[in-house]
Amino acid sequence: MARQTGFSKPRRDSRQIMVGKVAVGGGAPVSVQSMTTTKTSDVEGTLAQIYALYGAGADIVRCTCNDAEAAEGLARIVPRSPVPIVADVHFHYEMALAALEAGVACLRLNPGNLRKPAEIKLVASEAKDRGVPIRIGVNAGSLHPDLYEKYGGAVPEALVESALYELSLFGEVGFEDVKISVKASSVPLMIESYRMLAEATNVPLHLGVTEAGPPPAGLIKSSAGIGTLLAEGIGDTIRYSLTADPIEEAKAGRQLLEALGLRDRVGLDLIACPSCGRTEIDVISVARQVQDALEKLKLPIQVAVMGCVVNGPGEAREADLGIAAGKHKGHLFIKGKIIRVVPEERMVEELVREAQNLAKEGVEARLAAADENAAREAEMDRAELLELKGSDVNNSETKVSLIRKRLAEEGS
Ligand code: SF4
Repeated sequence: MARQTGFSKPRRDSRQIMVGKVAVGGGAPVSVQSMTTTKTSDVEGTLAQIYALYGAGADIVRCTCNDAEAAEGLARIVPRSPVPIVADVHFHYEMALAALEAGVACLRLNPGNLRKPAEIKLVASEAKDRGVPIRIGVNAGSLHPDLYEKYGGAVPEALVESALYELSLFGEVGFEDVKISVKASSVPLMIESYRMLAEATNVPLHLGVTEAGPPPAGLIKSSAGIGTLLAEGIGDTIRYSLTADPIEEAKAGRQLLEALGLRDRVGLDLIACPSCGRTEIDVISVARQVQDALEKLKLPIQVAVMGCVVNGPGEAREADLGIAAGKHKGHLFIKGKIIRVVPEERMVEELVREAQNLAKEGVEARLAAADENAAREAEMDRAELLELKGSDVNNSETKVSLIRKRLAEEGS
């Protein structure tokens, strides 16, 4: 049942799919997506950007998977990401298989660039076996040349036909876990294409104006295209494609949904890691305690609860304040810098106290008041945990070996 909105048109009744833990379509809240700009092989840099995007309002993040190093990076990123990761695949079906091996929550395939039916069906079969959805990401700028010729250009009929043809290939292997986008840099073309597609199928739709450019024009084009469709009830997940820091994309997406009354406004911005093999605490329970305590105080800050001191402060370095667990201690940090180490049983109350001080005194003052031994103690705890648990607690290296083996087989 589609959720009602303040608009005269109800939301389109689309089928629901799950991108990791995020429901898309079928009346689920419209989700915000963005894409990293780092090299996916740069695991720490990409994770820091993913956390920053999460903090800015992204529900789902896409990373490029353009070579073997990127696929291996995904194997290391996925278990540590706070949001579901989508692998963006263009020319090489092997990269889609490798991304599945890495454990991504969704694939994006561009039908204009990945054209062989046998390869497309192979990827869809494997995605089906693993329960991973795929976005058919049609783009006016990279439309299949046959369709371009048939229609004499990138027109709505051509974009929709491209998407439906790919959908029919998926259907041949019984794969239905799909969402579709038909993006164009022209706002009228994009709007008409989505309207036509919305009539043709009940598959959930991912909206976007591609290559919208830098703000303010990029923001205006995206808001016009995405906003028009959302007001008509069309669209289940959105992305602003700006020539800007991707944080701006996530913020804009979130703000548009709030402005249209499609998402609730956020007060305290609490982010928390998903927890993985490195977790030293029950992240869900600690995050809940922190949320209960801080929400009442109505402080306009972003706070992170991280499961381990090995990676937590770095992953959440954009947060105003955070706590990372380890060795039965809480490591308090401001903007990624450790300021105090406290016993685990007092970590929530210390975090709340620091949040109040931070709101009152500001970042610089609180950094200046940091315990000078805290960073060293945290580094020692981090080193001890690494020694104790090893460097591959998430089995990422096993997946990397599988990716290498798989790509070697596909290449032979
Ligand atoms: S437990 Fe540590 S490495 Fe794992 S997701 Fe949380 S902060 Fe990242």
